[in-house]
Amino acid sequence: MKTAAATATAEAQAADFAARQAKALLVHGRLCAEYGAPFPFFSTKDPLSELVSALLSHRTKNADSHRAYQELRATFPTWEAVRDAPTEAVQHAIRACTWPEQKAPRIQAVLREISERCGTDAPCALDFLAEMPIPEARAWLESISGVGPKTSAATLLFSTLRIPAMPVDSHHHRVAQRLGLIGPKVGEGPAHKLLEALLPPGWDAQQVYDHHEALMFHGQKCCYFSSPACGRCVVLDQCPFGQARLGGKAAG
Ligand code: SF4
Repeated sequence: MKTAAATATAEAQAADFAARQAKALLVHGRLCAEYGAPFPFFSTKDPLSELVSALLSHRTKNADSHRAYQELRATFPTWEAVRDAPTEAVQHAIRACTWPEQKAPRIQAVLREISERCGTDAPCALDFLAEMPIPEARAWLESISGVGPKTSAATLLFSTLRIPAMPVDSHHHRVAQRLGLIGPKVGEGPAHKLLEALLPPGWDAQQVYDHHEALMFHGQKCCYFSSPACGRCVVLDQCPFGQARLGGKAAG
């Protein structure tokens, strides 16, 4: 039997969760209106290509990872050819992105592992992930060494699969943290499950994509890493971080 203290704690946790859910929806509505949702999907890659693209994009500007991806595709005719090429050649092709010396062997190892799991000569296309429940598809991808929650979600959502799994990039993470949707010490990896749990379970891929893009745009265009523009922020009334900042400035 639960003690009164345990019951009170459980009730407080449930109330806190409900408040964060409501805030996530309110913020979603305002930021989608601010930045012009629905946002068109930017990628039409098949899931395997999207996976490689996501591995290239880690801590890299979009333009640089795009250049690295384009050159990789131009240099090698197939993913099988990338897998079996000398690592230095892959590293050279992706030199536009950050840490090509780490990403080249990682991409080749991922392609090797996918080929082994599929039991095929060439790495398989990953379209079969569409037949799995989303948590299983994510677990399949994340059990590959070097594939984390952001990469698995990007593969499922951004690719032609269009499966509603939500990636959390550094902008999205920063905005969510300042708004109090997640705690101040929650890292980008663990934030995926916590932030996805706040979204209505029936949301489709477009809604999940809009949510991610809206928070990301807000991080890029207003909630900057240093000196966020809180004075013109459309969710200031929901943001303890921004209110403390402006309050502090006013007091100072
Ligand atoms: S109020 Fe400031 S810190 Fe909060 S979300 Fe807006 S810009 Fe970011």
